[in-house]
Amino acid sequence: MEPEQASPRLDGPQVARRSDVVIIGAGFAGLEVAKELGRAGVETIVIDRHNHHLFQPLLYQVATAALSATDVAEPIRKVLRGKHPVQVLFGEVSEVDLAHREVRLTCGHSVGFKRLVLASGAVHGYFGHDEWAKWAPGLKTIEDARHIRSQLLLTFERAERTDDPVERDRLLSVAIIGGGPTGVELAGAIAELSRYTLARDFRSINPAAAKITLVEAGPRLLPGFSEDISAYAASRLKRLGVQVRTGEAVGEVGPGLVSIAGQTLPVGLVIWAAGVSASPLARQLGETDRAGRIAVDATLAVPGLRDVFALGDVAAFTDENGEPLPGLAQVAKQQGIHLGRALAAHIRTGEPLPPFRYSSRGNTAIVGRHAAVFEHHRFKVKGWFAWFAWAVIHVYLLVGFQHRFLVSMQWFWRYLTYDRGARLIAGDYVEVPDPKAVPLPRDRRRPAPPSEVARREVEAATE
Ligand SMILES: Cc1cc2nc3c(=O)[nH]c(=O)nc-3n(C[C@H](O)[C@H](O)[C@H](O)COP(=O)(O)OP(=O)(O)OC[C@H]3O[C@@H](n4cnc5c(N)ncnc54)[C@H](O)[C@@H]3O)c2cc1C
Repeated sequence: MEPEQASPRLDGPQVARRSDVVIIGAGFAGLEVAKELGRAGVETIVIDRHNHHLFQPLLYQVATAALSATDVAEPIRKVLRGKHPVQVLFGEVSEVDLAHREVRLTCGHSVGFKRLVLASGAVHGYFGHDEWAKWAPGLKTIEDARHIRSQLLLTFERAERTDDPVERDRLLSVAIIGGGPTGVELAGAIAELSRYTLARDFRSINPAAAKITLVEAGPRLLPGFSEDISAYAASRLKRLGVQVRTGEAVGEVGPGLVSIAGQTLPVGLVIWAAGVSASPLARQLGETDRAGRIAVDATLAVPGLRDVFALGDVAAFTDENGEPLPGLAQVAKQQGIHLGRALAAHIRTGEPLPPFRYSSRGNTAIVGRHAAVFEHHRFKVKGWFAWFAWAVIHVYLLVGFQHRFLVSMQWFWRYLTYDRGARLIAGDYVEVPDPKAVPLPRDRRRPAPPSEVARREVEAATE
């Protein structure tokens, strides 16, 4: 038996704690493992760099002012309150030391493990253009959602202030890169926000005229769905005034501009919804695939490593038909429940770990006001009924009765009034120089191109 740590220390780089099972990440996968192990009485430590579990599928609603951050997040300690063998550590893991069987945290502490579960999810992936991250924020955390919401509302505020019609047009243009479910949901929600909600609030500008462009490099939106569903999504978005550009790749993203298929568009905001790659911790366990994921076997164990498991977005799992499983909450959750139960039984009785089998509950995405798509094998629903089913499923999946109640009430209110209550710009007001005050180019008869004005404005603001 491995020796237990006599007195846990949190004030130095020593091995501070040791546990039967250490779980990195309390997302959809890690939280389920912790709940199952806690139920079975297995000593477990869960480490997460956030103190909350986040319901990412509704994050776009925070970014578009429909819900508040607290509606979609729940403190991890609260979720695991009743599971006494489970300890929660708030911290960021920087290193997995397989030789010494411990994980190191950025604060200098270490935690020893007998069994390790890596469930650290994914991060934004910019296809080798990490410099775009500065101009095209992605959506993965509460901070991301708040940042996008602030930037989105700020572009309307700036447009209201400016007298320059060219600059106003730029500010009222939003580009979303990536036509998967997140991009489609964001495009629909921003169109709704500008056309139905903000349209009533401004005096000088017409937010309803905002130009929202959704760009997808592939031939169609929602590539994970069938073609008729993709066509329906595109037509619903077009009805909301969204410009859908498929088969066109983004070549450049910069301050106030995005270049699509060689054409430069001046924009007030670019949002990145095009890709993710697995948490960098995966690379510490061995060779990863193109998406940065570590391969796991049928039992979710990392081949060649003793008692090390990976699941959710960080793992590459191939099902019994040889198909890789997609990065979805339902995959992560099912894997978490399976591994938690399997590990608990294995620790108790020594019985071998059974293989994981995924059972799809269907795919769904929102494509605008009260319209959604749902597809499960050959069964497809679109329109209002799919939206209603989506709403019921998502409310049911939210952690905690309070969240379910509050989110349902807010959706009902928005259904009746078109209002979005969470229209807050985070932080204090910071003066951004009026673009008119920026020195004009030498040829004063020609105004600076909007991208140039935007670049100067952003540079001045970030100095
Ligand atoms: C905007 C958006 C919308 C989505 N919509 C849907 C949808 O509609 N339906 C669907 O099925 N799926 C959806 N997904 C995908 C789904 O959210 C993921 O597949 C799911 O969250 C994966 O679960 P996970 O447990 O692997 O990772 P996550 O849920 O991302 O959890 C990872 C956890 O690890 C923690 N962590 C990461 N690195 C460290 C570290 N170094 N140290 C400590 N802790 C760390 C993080 O803080 C986080 O809590 C969406 C994702 C996004 C971003």
